[in-house]
Amino acid sequence: MTTVTNLGFPRIGAKRELKRALEAFWSGQSSAQSLLDTAATLRATHWRLQHDAGVDVPTSNDFSLYDQVLDAAFLFDAIPARYRALADADPLAGYFAMARGLQRDGHDLHALEMTKWFDTNYHYLVPELQAGQGFALRGNKPLAEYRQAQGLGIETRPVLIGPVTFLLLSKTTDGSPALDLLDALLPVYVELLGQLQAAGAAWVQLDEPVLVRDLDDATRAAFVHAYEVLAAATRPKVLVATYFGALEDNLALATGLPVEGLHVDLVRAPEQLDAVIKALPAGRVLSAGVVNGRNIWRTHLDNALLLARYAHGHVGGDHLWLAPSCSLLHSPVDLAHETKLDSELRGWLAFSKQKLEELRLLANAIDNPAVAERPLAAARERLEARRRSPRVHNPVVAERLGAITAADSQRHSAYPQRHLAQAAALNLPLFPTTTIGSFPQTLEVREARARNKSGKLSDADYDAFLATQTEFCVRAQEQIGLDVLVHGEFERNDMVEYFGEQLEGFAFTKNGWVQSYGSRCVKPPVIFGDVSRPQPMTVRWSQYAQSLTERPMKGMLTGPVTVLQWSFVRDDQARADTCRQIALALRDEVLDLEAAGIGVIQIDEPAIREGLPLRRAQWRDYLDWAVEAFRITASGVRDATQIHTHMCYSEFNDIIHSVAAMDADVISIETSRSRMELLDAFVRFQYPNEIGPGVYDIHSPRVPDKEEMVALLRKAAEVLRPEQIWVNPDCGLKTRAWPETRAALEALVAAAQQLRDEY
Ligand code: GLN
Ligand code: ZN
Repeated sequence: MTTVTNLGFPRIGAKRELKRALEAFWSGQSSAQSLLDTAATLRATHWRLQHDAGVDVPTSNDFSLYDQVLDAAFLFDAIPARYRALADADPLAGYFAMARGLQRDGHDLHALEMTKWFDTNYHYLVPELQAGQGFALRGNKPLAEYRQAQGLGIETRPVLIGPVTFLLLSKTTDGSPALDLLDALLPVYVELLGQLQAAGAAWVQLDEPVLVRDLDDATRAAFVHAYEVLAAATRPKVLVATYFGALEDNLALATGLPVEGLHVDLVRAPEQLDAVIKALPAGRVLSAGVVNGRNIWRTHLDNALLLARYAHGHVGGDHLWLAPSCSLLHSPVDLAHETKLDSELRGWLAFSKQKLEELRLLANAIDNPAVAERPLAAARERLEARRRSPRVHNPVVAERLGAITAADSQRHSAYPQRHLAQAAALNLPLFPTTTIGSFPQTLEVREARARNKSGKLSDADYDAFLATQTEFCVRAQEQIGLDVLVHGEFERNDMVEYFGEQLEGFAFTKNGWVQSYGSRCVKPPVIFGDVSRPQPMTVRWSQYAQSLTERPMKGMLTGPVTVLQWSFVRDDQARADTCRQIALALRDEVLDLEAAGIGVIQIDEPAIREGLPLRRAQWRDYLDWAVEAFRITASGVRDATQIHTHMCYSEFNDIIHSVAAMDADVISIETSRSRMELLDAFVRFQYPNEIGPGVYDIHSPRVPDKEEMVALLRKAAEVLRPEQIWVNPDCGLKTRAWPETRAALEALVAAAQQLRDEY
């Protein structure tokens, strides 16, 4: 019998029950016990759901109150000194302080750093380690959760992040190599494996996704050493799980580890199957990831079955497991809750539960082909319907895509000439001031939107409300003395959803939530068809805002790569093509803004860097089409129209060539927290166009004073030409409140004035 297994289940709950429980606990409205009860109920529900969907062995310890990497750090007692007393006195409080910081009851603890989990939109907390530190088992989370499932009669495979991946994802405060800590860490794994074995666990899963990245020799040696030590322990059988890509040059390393099973991602990298089978020693279990854990489409079951049968033929039924490509953490829970999607589109989708049912069907098709015939035929028909659907294919879009020429991604003149035309048109002072787009989304703004959505506030009244907000924002910016104004983005819920809702080819789910970090979830739009723009999307608000003032009003768009990156994308065409379609739609919006008298247009691309492939060899290709998409969006305008772009959280060293190739007239970036360190990449590259290095950290309510911003600007002016420099905050102001925003921007304008006097 072919075994169906899973690598991990989303923990937030189909209705975001965990989010609610966490936030109630954090705000003091409910007790720790009630939070832990909700957590236990969710785990039980999810194990039963998986069992009912046909999973033979679900995982345990995939649950987390916040993040699985933080759980591991906590479990291994890798608790930085600043949290230790609290964690000893109240473990849950210590845990959440590491996750979110704590400013209460005399504590002033900042949180661990957060960063993206490989190339997903999930964020993990970065463990902070230091040379010479020790590790110890703290608490018994994996064991307790294994036992909970056991008590329900469900045999699970506990999952732990593997030791090498754990260290490589950590940072050391003293800059020493984290892998130096391997020998200190391994005994804790050995102890834990022993406990799980004693409790009856037949298998454990050690996640080592770093095996799909480029590794140096030291890391490879660390793998060999770590797994030799673990192999010698008294322990359950070990499945090493790799995902998000191909093993490539790490294939021999991965298949050579002295463990009992290996999971590989055959969705991102189906081509590796043959090589994996050849390299895998006889008697090893192959866990074949044949259903996409990161997207929402139904699987091409015939294709998946080909892979599964091929594997079955080689490793045999006793040694083949069928699994999703990666943990289902990155998929919503259950399509059954999508009551508002039309049935055709719904028939094309699979969330976590449906993906597991697909795996069961594949296993049945191998073991008992006759039983699977009918459901497979039905799936084939649905796929065929999707392939042929006129909702998916728009010949006008296809034609436009085919007609793109090099000229479409080329501004009329080079930057120096454009600069002259823009200087004449805009007549801005040296060190011009601006903001990144959004202004405070107050409770009032959010409530009005919610009331409009639920029908309690008429469209006309909502419009009037937005107009008042916009005018208030424009007047405020005039009073503050900013040079290039924005309309404030009060009409927007989210920078991608707002555009997706107005474009053809996008659909929105009601409950398609995916955890982003902690209690925060996102509901990515579903791009199901060719993208086009039936009518202007932002012109009305930008034009209205411009009509209120003599100063230049900056139009505000989300760029094509960011729209792509933060959506569930089609699996039936290349990402690059979907991105180009979005670019063409946005290009029309840019031209309409220009025609409506908007002379400055910002195209936000905060997601360019996170889209980088995991392997360096693939960067060039990605960056080429990403830059091209931006340029298609931006390049239709006259020389005198100034194109801005904005990127936040970006580390630029690796991608500075491509950022320069985007050829925006002005780029704003986040630099205040790094004290302008991020500028280095631009300076070394001799970046020619204009830059607004953020001087105000908008992530905190703290108001920076003028002197602080002057110091940052002087630092920038030492390394850049003064005519290159813009003065702006790090990012949009939507999470801030008005009083601090006003005070900070007044100081920012005063700082710019002082710089003008000095230069
Ligand atoms: N224009 C957007 C804003 O100001 C940009 C947000 C972002 O960079 N993530 O909110
Ligand atoms: Zn930003």
